[in-house]
Amino acid sequence: MKISLIIPCYNEQEALPIFYGETKKVMESMACDYELIFVNDGSKDGTLALLKELADADEHVSYIGFSRNFGKEAAMYAGFCNAGGDYVAVMDADMQDPPSLLPQMLEILETGEYDSVATRRVTRKGEPKIRSWFARMFYRIINHISDADIVDGARDFRLMKRSMVDAIVAMGEYNRFSKGIFGWIGFRTYWLPYENVNRVAGETKWNFWKLFKYAIDGVINFSQVPLSIASWFGMFMTVVAFIAVLFIVIRKLVFGDPVDGWASTVCIITLIGGIQLFCMGIMGQYIAKTYIEVKKRPHYIVSESNIDEMEKIK
Ligand code: UDP
Ligand code: MG
Repeated sequence: MKISLIIPCYNEQEALPIFYGETKKVMESMACDYELIFVNDGSKDGTLALLKELADADEHVSYIGFSRNFGKEAAMYAGFCNAGGDYVAVMDADMQDPPSLLPQMLEILETGEYDSVATRRVTRKGEPKIRSWFARMFYRIINHISDADIVDGARDFRLMKRSMVDAIVAMGEYNRFSKGIFGWIGFRTYWLPYENVNRVAGETKWNFWKLFKYAIDGVINFSQVPLSIASWFGMFMTVVAFIAVLFIVIRKLVFGDPVDGWASTVCIITLIGGIQLFCMGIMGQYIAKTYIEVKKRPHYIVSESNIDEMEKIK
């Protein structure tokens, strides 16, 4: 029995030695074979050099180096495509996914009742309040409008059986949103709650704007509901317009009032113009995603690695 850990790394030279030390200790205590697959996502610091050192000294370590920064989703995909273990987990390099949970996760999987054990932060201590609020709103909305089950506070950190990994690899879409993919493929998942842990060293790669865009991407990738907003708006406005026409015609016939008020006309025109542009924008978002998807560009390009047999461009 073998466990593969996938660790996406982008500028993690401060956190990596701590992560490696801790994880190694946990894995050695677990009495099973294991491999650590570090994916260097085009780091600009000494991450790659550090990974090479680790790989030279430790046969359990392999690394995949991208030709540039492709993002965490691509790094995770590269890991999944090259993981050979019976059980596979993705972990952040900053210790926010505590390796100490791994033995417990394995124990739950070994009972055979579940296909994956996923972790969920029950607190968001140490995170800006406004960010937590937006995060909660995001989960509320996406669960209403998407058929993928996306759990609030869920991390990408989960230990999965081979069958689940195969399903993830088979989802070859370019616009990847892993929280949605995990939820969409199904399988029996056990949720393991834990308290939020702060990053040990280095800095987060996510600012508010990046997270906001990530959330919008998540919605567009896993829901068609925004598209139907346009048709609902359209229908609603048609009904309103019909009533308004009746009202004006009857008022003219009965009371002989001339139609006055250019101000209201301008307001209505700008309102409807705004709604139309808004709806076109939503459609544009989907068209843009479709455009990227049909180009079938590779998810990532590997420039160096110590894994012999792998697809360098996938
Ligand atoms: N990461 C990556 N590519 C990126 C950004 C981040 O591989 O473009 C990795 C990063 O090295 C870390 C994990 O993704 O291991 C999570 O990133 P981070 O801790 O910055 O995110 P946060 O925990 O703050 O959401
Ligand atoms: Mg982190």
